[in-house]
Amino acid sequence: MSRIMIIGAGQSGLQLGMGLLDHGHEVTVVSNRTPEQIREGRVMSSQCMFDAALQHERDISANFWEDSCPPVEGISFTVPDGQGGKQLEWAGRLDRDAQSVDQRVKMPVWMQELERRGGELRIEEAGIEELEAYARDYDLVLVASGKGEIGKLFERDAERSTFDKPQRALALTYVHGMTPRPEHSAVCFNLIPGVGEYFVFPALTLSGPCEIMVFEGVPGGPMDCWGDVDGPAAHLARSLEILETYLPWEAARCRNVELTDDQGILAGRFPPTIRKPVGRLPSGAAVLGMADTVVLNDPVTGQGSNNAAKCAATYLQRILERGDGPFDSEWMQGTFETYWDYARYVVDWTNALLQPPQPHVLELMGAAQGNRELARRMANGFNDPRDYFPWFMEPGAADEYLKSLQAA
Ligand SMILES: Cc1cc2nc3c(=O)[nH]c(=O)nc-3n(C[C@H](O)[C@H](O)[C@H](O)COP(=O)(O)OP(=O)(O)OC[C@H]3O[C@@H](n4cnc5c(N)ncnc54)[C@H](O)[C@@H]3O)c2cc1C
Repeated sequence: MSRIMIIGAGQSGLQLGMGLLDHGHEVTVVSNRTPEQIREGRVMSSQCMFDAALQHERDISANFWEDSCPPVEGISFTVPDGQGGKQLEWAGRLDRDAQSVDQRVKMPVWMQELERRGGELRIEEAGIEELEAYARDYDLVLVASGKGEIGKLFERDAERSTFDKPQRALALTYVHGMTPRPEHSAVCFNLIPGVGEYFVFPALTLSGPCEIMVFEGVPGGPMDCWGDVDGPAAHLARSLEILETYLPWEAARCRNVELTDDQGILAGRFPPTIRKPVGRLPSGAAVLGMADTVVLNDPVTGQGSNNAAKCAATYLQRILERGDGPFDSEWMQGTFETYWDYARYVVDWTNALLQPPQPHVLELMGAAQGNRELARRMANGFNDPRDYFPWFMEPGAADEYLKSLQAA
């Protein structure tokens, strides 16, 4: 059995750690925050996870919120017409529910669970010096530090990275009191051409069921508007102003909302970045990056936690298959490539949605309005974005697919 060190107590690090412990490995997870600091800190994500990712949590018996977290049953898509009405609207049911458990709820419990399963939780900020010591003491060091600075140890992969600047100004607003969507719950995705995206869906937070509002403003545009916002009340007010201006039907659901708590807000931005998975320490020792550390997407498609869960599951499988062999850099690269075989589809699809929509995408979106099967397929692609290839991504394939739907 191996001694494995994981830097970062987030979705990927803790999920992998618990999975490894179940198979008899010795695991230490390093976190730069205590469980209390995470619980009492700021929200970090909207973390909506679809069925395939949730299944990985079920597989390691870490699905503790399945009964308490409200379900997300579908995806709805709306484009406003610029005059207070809707130019386009459809909704598709998910074959199986999605769920979003506030990471402030999930991670402290998982940290406790890691220790209960025999793992060690160490609270420290891991820097290069610490990594050198871990690389000497452990068979394998994994860096699952999300957007943390230590991730810069991994060289940016210029070939695989499309952008070098943030593509959206992001904001989160966690609220209680929103009027539910009448038909069924959904990620209500609103695309405001040239301005950005707004999506909203039910979730579970510290104070119970809530709704998470996610704003994705095109940089420099009118929804890139968080710089002068001072404090939680102003953040909520700005969120509501945006809805009143661009999406009156969403504003109408918010007449009675209040923030879940003063820490239920976030604003920021980052460049989507792919990094080379094998990091070299000054001593020459190799460490392996995982999830956001090496494949960081914009949240516009809500895939980061899903990717993190899938990355953790892939790495777990690779470690188990490896048996007692050495974890050399060739094995590390191969392990990442196994994950990349999946993640590259998510990256391509997400990056496509950050660009102004191509004519064939608009045509597909329009067709989904009158075609339940197409709407269902669009919705379920969030669970496994490989299904969008090629019909969503290529004009010719889109045309062919639309013809086949008409013929049917
Ligand atoms: C606004 C927003 C909305 C989002 N919405 C969604 C969504 O709806 N669906 C979805 O799937 N994804 C979403 N995401 C993305 C998702 O939250 C991340 O992709 C996911 O959390 C990544 O998991 P991870 O394990 O890679 O890293 P993280 O969950 O970020 O965990 C990394 C951990 O490492 C710790 N750490 C960092 N540096 C160090 C260090 N030096 N030493 C010790 N510990 C360290 C951090 O404190 C953190 O706890 C969203 C992200 C944002 C910003």
